[in-house]
Amino acid sequence: MWFSKSKEAVLYELEVDPSRGLTEAEAQARLKKYGPNKLKARKKKSVFQLFLAQLQDWLIYVLFAAVVITLIMGEYIDAIIIIAVIVLNAVLGVVQEVRAGNAIEALQKMASPKALVRRDGVVQEVDSETVVPGDILVLDAGRYVAADLRLLESAHLQIEESALTGESVPTPKDASITLKVPNTPLGDRDNAAFMSTLVTAGRGLGVTVGTGMHTEVGKIARIINTEEQIKTPLEIRLNRLGKSLGKFAIGICVLIFGVALLQGRDLAEMFLISVSLAVASIPEGLAAIVAIVLSIGVTSMSKRNAIIRRLPAVETLGSVNIICSDKTGTLTQNKMTVLKYFNMEGEATVKPGKGNIPSEDARLLAKAMVLCSDATYANGEGTGDPTEIALLMLGDDLGLDREALNRESKRIDEFSFDSNRKLMSTLHEENGRYTVYTKGAIDNLLKLATHVQEKGQVVPISEQHRQQVQAATARMSEQALRTLGVAYKPVEKVICAEEMERELILLGLVGMMDPPRTEVKGSVRKAKEAGIRTIMITGDHKITAYAIAHQLGIAECLDQAITGQEIDDLGEHTFNEKVRNYRIFARVSPEHKVCIVRALKAQGNVVSMTGDGVNDAPSLQAADIGVAMGIAGTDVAKGASDMILTDDNFATIVSAIEQGRNIYNNIRKAVLFLLTCNLGEVVTMFITLIIGWEAPLIATQLLWINLLTDSMPAVALGMDPGDPDVMREKPRDPNESFFAGIAGWRVLGGGFLIGLLTIFAFWFGYYEHGYSPFDDNVPFATLENARTLAFMTLVACQLFYALAMRHPTKSIFQVGVFTNKYLIGAIVLGLALQLVVIAIPFMREAFNLKMLDKNGWFMVLFLGLVPLLVNELGKIYLRVWRRKIVDQ
Ligand code: ATP
Repeated sequence: MWFSKSKEAVLYELEVDPSRGLTEAEAQARLKKYGPNKLKARKKKSVFQLFLAQLQDWLIYVLFAAVVITLIMGEYIDAIIIIAVIVLNAVLGVVQEVRAGNAIEALQKMASPKALVRRDGVVQEVDSETVVPGDILVLDAGRYVAADLRLLESAHLQIEESALTGESVPTPKDASITLKVPNTPLGDRDNAAFMSTLVTAGRGLGVTVGTGMHTEVGKIARIINTEEQIKTPLEIRLNRLGKSLGKFAIGICVLIFGVALLQGRDLAEMFLISVSLAVASIPEGLAAIVAIVLSIGVTSMSKRNAIIRRLPAVETLGSVNIICSDKTGTLTQNKMTVLKYFNMEGEATVKPGKGNIPSEDARLLAKAMVLCSDATYANGEGTGDPTEIALLMLGDDLGLDREALNRESKRIDEFSFDSNRKLMSTLHEENGRYTVYTKGAIDNLLKLATHVQEKGQVVPISEQHRQQVQAATARMSEQALRTLGVAYKPVEKVICAEEMERELILLGLVGMMDPPRTEVKGSVRKAKEAGIRTIMITGDHKITAYAIAHQLGIAECLDQAITGQEIDDLGEHTFNEKVRNYRIFARVSPEHKVCIVRALKAQGNVVSMTGDGVNDAPSLQAADIGVAMGIAGTDVAKGASDMILTDDNFATIVSAIEQGRNIYNNIRKAVLFLLTCNLGEVVTMFITLIIGWEAPLIATQLLWINLLTDSMPAVALGMDPGDPDVMREKPRDPNESFFAGIAGWRVLGGGFLIGLLTIFAFWFGYYEHGYSPFDDNVPFATLENARTLAFMTLVACQLFYALAMRHPTKSIFQVGVFTNKYLIGAIVLGLALQLVVIAIPFMREAFNLKMLDKNGWFMVLFLGLVPLLVNELGKIYLRVWRRKIVDQ
C-alpha cells in the first residue's frame, strides 16, 4: 500500500521528480493510458428512450385513441395526420430536451473544479479531469482534492473527509509519517489525501497515486447520478398553472361534447374535435418553453462571464435589489503596487525601479514582507496573491536580493493567512537562529505588538508610537491606499503557530494602490437606475474602503461606513434596524457577512452576495444569489454559489441581473402568447358550437395550429433580444404573479378578440356564398370555404399578434420590427406553411380546405392584422397614461 511506503519509494514507482513534476508530454501519455480523472456517471438515456418517454403522456394516449377511432371510421388521412402530429411532437420534445441538457452540461463543465498541478517545473491550474497518476498536486485552503494523493509536504494541512468517512471534523495531515499498518482505515491515513475531500486549512503537496474510478471515492461511488433534474420555481408554478388550465380545457371539451350530443351532431366527428381541442388548448408546452428559454439564456450568460450553477438563480436575479460586493478584485483591479511605506523614521515614497536608498529599518521591513509571502515574481510575471506579489516587487525596488534571502532564511513553519485573523506568519531559520515574521491588518498588529523597531533599536511601544502608526494609516487610507503592517520577533526555538502571533516587534506598514476597475462606476450608476443598491463589503480598512467607494459612487459620506467591530458593538437587534443606512462594511469577517445578509433579507430585500474564501460559503448560501469569484475564488465558495463570475468583475453581476430580467420577461412573453393563442381556439370552438353552428375548425386543423403556428412564435419570443430599457425599471417583486398588471387582461382580451375574429371569418365564408351559418342544407363547398377562412384567419391573427407581444407598452416600431430575426422567421415560415397547405392539392384535401378567392385573402389579411393593431392602439393609450402619471 502506497501510504505504508516512504515518499521516495512512491515517487520512484511513479517515476516523477517532485520539484519538476511530470512533463506535459508524459502527462498526456498517461492520460491516454489511465483515462480521464472522473467518476463514471450513470449512462445517459438514448435518444430512442427519450423519444419513448415523450409518448408516455395521457394527452398522447388520448390522441392514440383518436387514431384508432379515425381508422375505424375509415378516415385514413386524419389518422395519418394525427400520427404525424404525435411523432413530430415527440421529435421536437427530444430535440428540446437534448439541447437544454447539453447547455446545462456545458455549464456544469465550466464550473467544474480545477487542480493546481506542477508540470515541467511550473505550477499551473488544469481541469481536474486531466490529472494523471504521478502528477504533483498543490493543495491550498478551500480547494477540493482532485485525486488520491500520497502527501509529500504539509504545512498545518487540514482536510475535511466527510465525503468519504462521514466525519465532518477536519483531519490534520502529516506528510512526514509512513504508516506501518497496511490496512490502516481511511480516516487514519494521515499521509494521504483523497479525491473529493476538501482542504480547510494550511497548504500541502502530494503525488497522485490514483485517479478516476481507481480512487477511494471511486470505489464507493461506483455510480454517480448526474441526471438530477432541477426544476425552477417558475417551472413548477407553470406546471401547476398548465395542469389547472388543462383541467379547465378538458371541462370545456366535455361540455362541448355534451352540448353536441344534445344537439344531435355527428358523434364521431365531435369526439375528434373535442380531443383535438383538448390537445390544442391544454398548455402542455409551458414548462418546455421555460426550459428552452432558460437553457438558451444561461448559455448566453456564460458567454458574458456569468456561469449560472442553479437555474432558479436566473429568475431570482431579476428581483435582486441589493448587490453586496467584495472590494478587492471585484470593484478594484486586484493589481497592487506599493506606493509608500512607513516606519518609525517616517514615511517614504517608493520609486519604481532601483532608485531607492532604504535605511536598515526599511530593508528589514521589506525583508519581512518578502519572507512572509507565498507568491512568486520573476521577469515581470507573478503568481499567487496580488498583495504578496506587490510586496515582492517592493523588495526588488528596495534592492533586496530575494533569492539570497530565501536561501539564507529557510522557512520551517507557517501560520497561514485567514480572513478572521487578517494575519499571516512564517517562522524562519537563519544560521541556527529563529525569527517569526508576521504581516497583516495594521490594527490587529498594533494589538499584538509590544515593541517597535526604531532607528535600528527595539524599544517598547509607546502611546506616541501607536498614534504615529495610526496617523500614517489614516493618511494612506485617505488616498485610497490599502495598508498592510509587518512585524517580527526573534525566538529561541521552534514554536507552535499560535505562539507566533504574540509580543511582536512592529516594523511599520506599507500603502499599496489597487485602482478601481474602470467599468465599475458606470455599472454602479446603472444598478442605481435599476433600483439596485450597491454595498461594499471588505476586509480592508474603513477609510481606504470609503475612499474607493466614494470614487465609485457607492457612498457619499463616511457615516455610511461601519466596521465589523462596530457591528458587534451595536448588537443584533440595533444592527438589523440600522443596516439600511450603510453602504460600506469594512474590516468584516466572513461571520459578519452572514449577519449582513440576514439583516438585509429581514428587511424584505433580495440580496446578492459575493465571496471567494474558504469561510464565505455560509454567507453565499444565506444570500438569495450567492456569487463566487471564478479566478480568485476557492472551490468551497464556488460550490456554495448560485453563480460564478469568470472575470471576478462587479460589472458582470450587473449585466447578469440585466440578462436575468430579460430572460424572465422573455419567458413571460412566450407563456402569455401561448395562453392567448389557446384561448383564441377555445373561444372559437365553444361559442360556435353553443350557438349551434358547424365546427369552424376540424381536428386536423386544430392539431396543426397547436403544433406549428403557436409554438414556433412562442419559442422565438423566448429568444427576444434584451430590452435596452430593462434596467430603468424597478426590480420585480419576487412574489409577483405571472399575470400581474395588465398581463392577465391582455391574455383574456387577446384570446377573445382572436376567437371572435375567427368566428367572423367563418361567418363571412357563408355570407360570401349567400348563406348563414344558421341555415340548414348549406352546400359542403360553402362550409369548407368558411372553414378555410376561419383556419387562415386564426393562424394569421396568432402570427401577427406575436409581434405585439414583444413589449407590453412599446410599439413594434419602437422595439424594431426586424430586431428579433427568429420571430420574423417563425412568422414567415408559419405563413409559408399555411400557403403550402392550401396550395398543394393533396395537402389541401387532407386538411379539408378550399382555395380562397381574392375577397377571402383580403379578409384573412385584414382580420389577421386586427389583434396586432388593437394591441398597438392600447399601448399608445398606456404610454400616454403613464406619461400623465409621471407628469403629475
Ligand atoms: P475584500 O475587499 O475582497 O474583502 P480584502 O483583501 O480587503 O478583500 P481580506 O482578503 O479578508 O479582504 O483581507 C483583509 C485584510 O487582511 C487586508 O486588508 C489586509 O490588511 C490583510 N491581508 C490581506 N491579504 C493578506 C496576506 N496575504 N497576508 C497578510 N495579511 C493580509
